[in-house]
Amino acid sequence: GATIGILGGGQLGRMMALAGRASGYRFATLDPTEDCPCAQVCDKHVEAGYDNVDGALELAQASDVITYEFENVDANVAAVLEEKSYVPQGSELLRITQNRIREKSTLSSYGIPVAPFLVIESEADAESAVKELGLPAVMKTATGGYDGKGQYVIRKLEEAAVAYRELAKAGTEIIIEQFIPFTVEISVIAARSVSGEIKTFPVAENVHRENILHLSIVPARIEQAIAERAEELAGTIAEKLQVVGLIAVEMFVTEDGHVLVNELAPRPHNSGHYTMDACVTSQFEQHIRAICDLPLGETELLSPVVMVNVLGEHLAPVLDKIEKLPPSAKLHLYGKKDSKPKRKMGHINVLAGSVEAALSKIEQLQIWEQMKEDM
Ligand code: ATP
Ligand code: MG
Ligand code: MG
Repeated sequence: GATIGILGGGQLGRMMALAGRASGYRFATLDPTEDCPCAQVCDKHVEAGYDNVDGALELAQASDVITYEFENVDANVAAVLEEKSYVPQGSELLRITQNRIREKSTLSSYGIPVAPFLVIESEADAESAVKELGLPAVMKTATGGYDGKGQYVIRKLEEAAVAYRELAKAGTEIIIEQFIPFTVEISVIAARSVSGEIKTFPVAENVHRENILHLSIVPARIEQAIAERAEELAGTIAEKLQVVGLIAVEMFVTEDGHVLVNELAPRPHNSGHYTMDACVTSQFEQHIRAICDLPLGETELLSPVVMVNVLGEHLAPVLDKIEKLPPSAKLHLYGKKDSKPKRKMGHINVLAGSVEAALSKIEQLQIWEQMKEDM
């Protein structure tokens, strides 16, 4: 079969390769780390930095199709890959989703609701933006942030200038948004194939701890009309952005039932890991189908499910209690060599007759803090 080259060697690439191998594809990965999660399951590993043009050339030579598992692909590398290989996802999607200002402006221009935002370029801008948007507000670096890094919640006007000074050190553009007092955070993953077929996965309800995804609960505990609206928004975004592959859409639901888009990721997403055991097609298989222009797989949910992330601090307790995991719990580990607190080491999908039953199975393991609050 064809060889798919993956830029990036983390767990998303690993799970993509594991899914694709089942259908006979071969894989190559480019990543600077020896024995990274993805390289362990690939036929070839180009051990080079993500901005290494020679490495990118070597990946291109070994691959029939190129994809990526993270959005911060270096522009030079993207250009080389597009010229020397086939990158069905294109570079425009990367350009938009790499930068929160471009992302939110593009979504707004398509009439997709986002939190009101302003671009700020000085401490004075920061203060006047807070006056215009109101308090609280959220200030974020436009590029490079993840797991809530590179952002501050501003609760008093005086904090605006201080936060600006801190974030400006990173040297990137800065955006400030109205704080949305959401009742719940949700996400939808949409897939669009090279030929333009679109399918969306069921809505996930996402619970974060310290800005890191903790649980995805599916079906989300929201009204049907809101779930339909969220899936419709994700499908519209995939269409308008002419996505090829996956687009993960993170959203806020407000008290009065409005759905606002928070951010996009043009790749498989942590909140879609539940699909591996609970849907007819996993997000990883769907991604491969989309970029290889196969018909998209059915996305139907087969069972209620809760995905819980296994961070570094959870790994030892999970392994200790491995015999106590319920028989409907599916453990996925990423093969990362060094376990550190807050590092994503794996996840568990717990299937049950209801999301409440799945949550209580997780709670009974007594590995994760504050589970009662989520139930
Ligand atoms: P990820 O790890 O998902 O890529 P990130 O670091 O890119 O996260 P965001 O998703 O923008 O950052 O924000 C992290 C979290 O902070 C959100 O999931 C949400 O809980 C909260 N948050 C972000 N922006 C807002 C906002 N405008 N109003 C209220 N809460 C917000
Ligand atoms: Mg993000
Ligand atoms: Mg996010």
